[in-house]
Amino acid sequence: MIIIAPTCGEDLNFIRIRFMSKIKVIVVILFLLSCGFNENDNNNKFSYNCNYSKNKNNTLVIQPIGNFPSSRTAILALKLKEIYPGRIVVSDPINPPKSCLNYNKKRYRADSLIRYFRRRSDPGFTTVGITNLSISSTKAKNSDFGIMGLGFCPGNACVISSFRIKGRNKYEKFYKVVLHEIAHTEGLQHCVKKNCFMRDANGKDHLNEEIEFCKSCRSMLIKKGWKL
Ligand SMILES: [Zn+2]
Ligand SMILES: [Zn+2]
Repeated sequence: MIIIAPTCGEDLNFIRIRFMSKIKVIVVILFLLSCGFNENDNNNKFSYNCNYSKNKNNTLVIQPIGNFPSSRTAILALKLKEIYPGRIVVSDPINPPKSCLNYNKKRYRADSLIRYFRRRSDPGFTTVGITNLSISSTKAKNSDFGIMGLGFCPGNACVISSFRIKGRNKYEKFYKVVLHEIAHTEGLQHCVKKNCFMRDANGKDHLNEEIEFCKSCRSMLIKKGWKL
């Protein structure tokens, strides 16, 4: 008995430790599940990742944010279909994600929107967020600089806003910004040519001076299959 008693105590300790470690595993699993649910927040109808099958070519998902005019979305899709090598898919509009609002809740952070889309994109998909809401990014010392568009280079998401684009040819100019940002996601940097779509806006509207992808930018896109 003297010998057995400590052994039983050790067994009980061993069982207790195993029981506690099982509880820890369950707690960790529950925590991970709750994180997963948090990722799908904002009550948006954002489910295209699950429904679309993957394609050999990259698929562009045009994602209206807020009340961007549906007729303009349709025209944009048709124009992109003429030149983009992969599929073009138009997703249902989503409410602007509140988590992407800036500090004074007046503009949506373009980089936050891109990260929002990136988290939800599968490989082989590039999301093109389009909106008429005001978007901003950090430019030098200004942490809330209003912009027309932003795309990570390279990346799988970009966002374009018509809010700052003015003029009678507003949507023609908007299309140029769309091409600029999609080309960034394809890996194209800014271009020094003044008439090239890849010109850096530098806080100004040069869009009427931009008439095409220059020879060098065009050849990079043609190598990626673009029909230019
Ligand atoms: Zn740019
Ligand atoms: Zn160029």
